[in-house]
Amino acid sequence: MPTLLEIRGLSAGLRGRRSVTQVVSEVDLDVEAGEILGVVGESGCGKSTLATAIMRLLVPPQVLQSGAITLWLKDGVGHDLLQLSDSELRQLRWRHLSYIPQGSMNSLNPVLRVEQQMTDTLIQHGLSIAEARSRAAAALELVNLEAKILNSYPHELSGGMRQRVIIAAAVSMHPALIVADELTTALDVVTQRQILQELAGIRDELGATIILITHDMGVVAQIADRVAVMYAGKIAELGSVNDIFETPLHPYSQGLIGSIPRESGGRIEGLPGEAPSPWNYPTGCRFHPRCPNIFDPCRERIPALQTQDSARWAACHLYDAEVAADA
Ligand code: SF4
Repeated sequence: MPTLLEIRGLSAGLRGRRSVTQVVSEVDLDVEAGEILGVVGESGCGKSTLATAIMRLLVPPQVLQSGAITLWLKDGVGHDLLQLSDSELRQLRWRHLSYIPQGSMNSLNPVLRVEQQMTDTLIQHGLSIAEARSRAAAALELVNLEAKILNSYPHELSGGMRQRVIIAAAVSMHPALIVADELTTALDVVTQRQILQELAGIRDELGATIILITHDMGVVAQIADRVAVMYAGKIAELGSVNDIFETPLHPYSQGLIGSIPRESGGRIEGLPGEAPSPWNYPTGCRFHPRCPNIFDPCRERIPALQTQDSARWAACHLYDAEVAADA
């Protein structure tokens, strides 16, 4: 698959009174066209900051520190999202990339009908009122909502329906890339499953690429093709959903998977300790205070994200032959 989004050396942080810390640290990541990439990790691991940096929506005290984010369009032209002017970026948003922020199902304006909230942006992008209405109705159909919903006010809809309206609005211009942050949090399990199925259907129907930010490994297991596991601002492991769930390499991935409740019951292993604050990252491997496999180099040397085979990457000294030989 060709690469749709190429992230290189991306660092973003928080500006404090005396210093700036890194919430996302030198992330390199290629997102393939047409895939659903799950970005997963505990609260505070930097996954939402990564999403907002991709969309260039960081707000103070958040600060972009370095990097390049190139969106490759079908015509073969790459656009570095971090270098575009505001008006150039506006042209790309909705039409080529769209964002579903965390908690967005509560962001609908309560005094406006769904139709106006869905069609305003389409009209701003040059569609006539009739075209915008027809596009909005077609987008609602993708999430199994009838066109009559356009006449409703948000308070007349359930939480699941409001979330579907938000998804429909985000995909109404058929963007190449959709970034969705904690899309199904706060929904019941049945609605969550339905919405994930609809999202997979949107990928199939529109050929869209989806980056799904979540803390929930169960969500990733249901829908993602590949998974990027984040810990303390860095990617700890990257690979196919099957590889990561069946044979996780990184001890953090192993802990996350061990924390998933199983239908068959049994003891949940869980992860000891807590993720570090970005103001107080440990030296060496940032996971070392919690790692059951720690060995000498881990406290001092930062593991690089290295390929284990062409499709699998891990940032752990256990898989670095050079470090293991020195230890
Ligand atoms: Fe554990 Fe060391 Fe690997 Fe970090 S580098 S995950 S501390 S074994």
